[in-house]
Amino acid sequence: MYLTDPDPSILAKKMELVDKLLSFLPRDAVIDDPRETLAYECDALSAYRCPPMVAVLPRTTEEVANIVKICWDLDVPVVPRGSGTSLAGGALPTGDSLVLGVARMNETLEVDYPNRLMRVQTGRTNLSVTGEVESDGFFYAPDPSSQLACAISGNIAMNSGGAHCLKYGVTSNNLLAVKMVTMQGEIIDLGGSQFDSSGYDLIGLICGSEGQLGIVTEATLRILHKPEGALPVLIGYNDSQVAGQCVSDIIKAGILPVAIEFMDRPCIRATDAFSQAGYPDCEALLIIEVEGSEVEIEEQLAKIIEIANKHNPVELRRAKNTDEANRIWLGRKSAFGAMGQINDYMCLDGTIPVSKLPFVLKRISEMSKEFGLDVGNVFHAGDGNMHPLILYNANKPGDLETCEAFGAEILKLCVEVGGCLTGEHGVGIEKRDLMHIQYSADDLEAQMAIKDVFDPKWLLNPTKVFPLDASAKRRAGATQETAA
Ligand SMILES: Cc1cc2nc3c(=O)[nH]c(=O)nc-3n(C[C@H](O)[C@H](O)[C@H](O)COP(=O)(O)OP(=O)(O)OC[C@H]3O[C@@H](n4cnc5c(N)ncnc54)[C@H](O)[C@@H]3O)c2cc1C
Repeated sequence: MYLTDPDPSILAKKMELVDKLLSFLPRDAVIDDPRETLAYECDALSAYRCPPMVAVLPRTTEEVANIVKICWDLDVPVVPRGSGTSLAGGALPTGDSLVLGVARMNETLEVDYPNRLMRVQTGRTNLSVTGEVESDGFFYAPDPSSQLACAISGNIAMNSGGAHCLKYGVTSNNLLAVKMVTMQGEIIDLGGSQFDSSGYDLIGLICGSEGQLGIVTEATLRILHKPEGALPVLIGYNDSQVAGQCVSDIIKAGILPVAIEFMDRPCIRATDAFSQAGYPDCEALLIIEVEGSEVEIEEQLAKIIEIANKHNPVELRRAKNTDEANRIWLGRKSAFGAMGQINDYMCLDGTIPVSKLPFVLKRISEMSKEFGLDVGNVFHAGDGNMHPLILYNANKPGDLETCEAFGAEILKLCVEVGGCLTGEHGVGIEKRDLMHIQYSADDLEAQMAIKDVFDPKWLLNPTKVFPLDASAKRRAGATQETAA
């Protein structure tokens, strides 16, 4: 992976930048000591690191606008940051950039139950949004496994999903409006409190734009009534492909569980040792959750169990109460942490048509032998969003490069079978140079032309998403010259 070198002419402006920031921000909101900027050197794709020139922690939209105006005037690149849990390197700084973190922007601005919406500053963590309204019987549906830590800002930028998105959709399906600061420091409001706003769907454009188009400071989120009840069933198989076939058959039968999660043997063993969830020792595990009234739950579970039994499971465990349900989910929720205890790993994120699951799982296991690196699979199987975790040794020369090459082959396979490069983690730097696989030069040009409109100097998160060769001229100021 190539990380771009810092521009010495930008580094030379550091003191001027810091002085200007300190003219309106408190001292503890401006981090410029190299020992302290280290805290921002990476996100959850920790194989790549680079501390920024400066980091800032504003509290208000107006402060954000003032910060970016200064950066615009000094031509300093800005890397927006929520909680830094991106697995795609979306929040990775360049050495000459300013990291703009929204972690201190965590207020609830409005809760409106009759209209089922909530307005928050975007530094608010995902789980705390539900925490705010659950005692009144409501919840916010998108539930990334990182929900304890990740911020709404990052969820919007990456259009994040989670286990329950099979039924409720991803962030874009639950976002009504945003307040955003453009790179010129203009504060704009997009969307509205109704289900569909007039004019172009600019919320659709901003959600998933990976910090390329503006800094999102406030969000209006759809909140939902909590279902009457929910119950998971755990199903074990001695063959990953058979488990994949079971998932495919459930979807084909027209049943819509709220979640279908998949783990293979390496993940089952690791998570069980880590969390003592009591999982069976088998090749593949499915956790399928349904929700609704007691009658609805019974009806859906009966159909699912009938389909599962046709594939001869080695274990079929139905939760009878909340304790048993929590125990079934325990291991799955700690899967990434558990795998991290075994080895360094890179978590991929590709999406495939559900019917291709058995074939893709077979190919990944063959490729694992070809590349000589173990791989564990844990993913949202119901919507075909795969997360192969490739295990490697960061201290062994060449292992990271082999891991990158293996990962690239898996993502190519996802595109070949009719899927796409990313399901929910985004492109960031991780898949930046693989965008050519999915998009032609003309496609990329059209996407970059949108960034030109919002960010004509290409100062916002400029080394992400687009292959470096495709964006080189723009990053060097070509757009600026054309516009001048
Ligand atoms: C253990 C673990 C489990 C995970 N599970 C899931 C999962 O189930 N589903 C899922 O979708 N993801 C998952 N992720 C990935 C990650 O948590 C999500 O991508 C999350 O949305 C990132 O949020 P963040 O606040 O940490 O963003 P950051 O990592 O800080 O940033 C992510 C991107 O958002 C941009 N950004 C941040 N703030 C702003 C802003 N205010 N305005 C504009 N752009 C901004 C950044 O520039 C960057 O491109 C997981 C990560 C980990 C470590």
